[in-house]
Amino acid sequence: NLKSRFAPSPTGYLHLGNARTALFAWLAARAAGGTFILRLEDTDQTRSPEIYERALLEDLRWFGIDWDEGPDRGGDHGPYRQMERLAVYAQYYAHLQASGQAYACYCSADDLAAERAVQRSAGKSPRYGGRCRHLGAAARAEREAAGLLPTLRFRVPDQGTLTVPDLVWGERHYALADLGDFVIRRSDGSPAFFFANAVDDALMEVNLVLRGEDHLTNTPRQILILQALGLPVPAYGHLPLLLGADGQPLSKRYGAASLRDLRKDGYLAAALRNYLARLGHHYSATGFLDSGALAQGFALNQISRAPGHFDMVQLQHWQHEAVQSLDETAVWDWLAPLLRGKVPVGLEMPFVAAVRANILLPGDALDWAERCFGAPALAADAVEAIIGVSPEFWSVAQATLQASGGDYRNWTKALQQASGHRGKALFMPLRAALTGLTHGPELAALLPLIGEERALARLHAAAQ
Ligand code: GLU
Repeated sequence: NLKSRFAPSPTGYLHLGNARTALFAWLAARAAGGTFILRLEDTDQTRSPEIYERALLEDLRWFGIDWDEGPDRGGDHGPYRQMERLAVYAQYYAHLQASGQAYACYCSADDLAAERAVQRSAGKSPRYGGRCRHLGAAARAEREAAGLLPTLRFRVPDQGTLTVPDLVWGERHYALADLGDFVIRRSDGSPAFFFANAVDDALMEVNLVLRGEDHLTNTPRQILILQALGLPVPAYGHLPLLLGADGQPLSKRYGAASLRDLRKDGYLAAALRNYLARLGHHYSATGFLDSGALAQGFALNQISRAPGHFDMVQLQHWQHEAVQSLDETAVWDWLAPLLRGKVPVGLEMPFVAAVRANILLPGDALDWAERCFGAPALAADAVEAIIGVSPEFWSVAQATLQASGGDYRNWTKALQQASGHRGKALFMPLRAALTGLTHGPELAALLPLIGEERALARLHAAAQ
């Protein structure tokens, strides 16, 4: 039974990089008919987790991700907030200390910085030299008496090579001598995140960890911890970076591009799912896929190593597809917060049917509502399309519209015969006069929305 998880730190709004990580981990679980866990890495107490925790759960739900176990719904392997699991970690620290695989380290930040500086100037990459490895009981007691708060370090074996398999990157090999003994518990008692995550993955029976490429170098340390504790090691897969179109890391440069911001702008979750699922994963299907089909087409061996480039134009393509995939009621539900009161009651569905292919965001629909039911301004090219047309054309247009009782086909047929205008020469001036633009949805669908009265007034105004 495949079990994967998403382990965000609730320290800010979910940005696109993490949203994609969550999506991949969720798709992998759903593809396999497995289990998906949400676990909060809330050990960074300097931020305010409550607000962000609520926002995170809400954003994930909106995105279409559900979880079988998590902080809000519990499960057999809880608790699912790491701050509620400190007693669990304490047992494992004790175990490692008792077996000599971890030791208290009293080195100060200054000591460590000095050591690193020496190593750097000797051209070596910095690592902890092991000063506190062999402290005797007396030296330890002296430091405790001085009130020094120790960190806890993991004792890395001095020799050997660790082979780390990765579903995306293949096998990587690490010389243990290069790793240095690393901190697994900070001096304030809080766990290093990679320690807590490794232990939790094992205890929660997670057997697939998909996460960002930035965690690749944490993996050897996590495997060492799990092996030392005799706990099972999950399969790891590290997702390629998500970059902006300019090649810069998305999370830093596009701090504003959170899921929440895009949602506020009117992007649909289905559009973001279709786009993000394809950023770093190859689907053979090129068209819009619902969540079930996205899961079905997901395969770990289709994850790419090349960084994904987030491109707004691509997102807009999927937004268009997502809008078309909704039924008309759902389109209206999406538009309603912005358009309620702007579309006459009873005309909601005809309005949706007319404009849906021409809108990406609710703001576009608002513009079309204004063009149908308000007093739209003429764009420059619309003015141009109107200006060259004779006054007779406009009076004939009014007369034939009245005579046809507002029926679009009869009207335009009669107008063509009476005016001699046909094709573009007929439709462009009409479109410009009626909507103020030279492009847009079918005029036949717009005319009933605009209504005969407003249409006559606009044709009249065009003649002036
Ligand atoms: N909180 C980490 C992140 O969001 C999770 C690391 C992990 O998945 O193990 O990157």
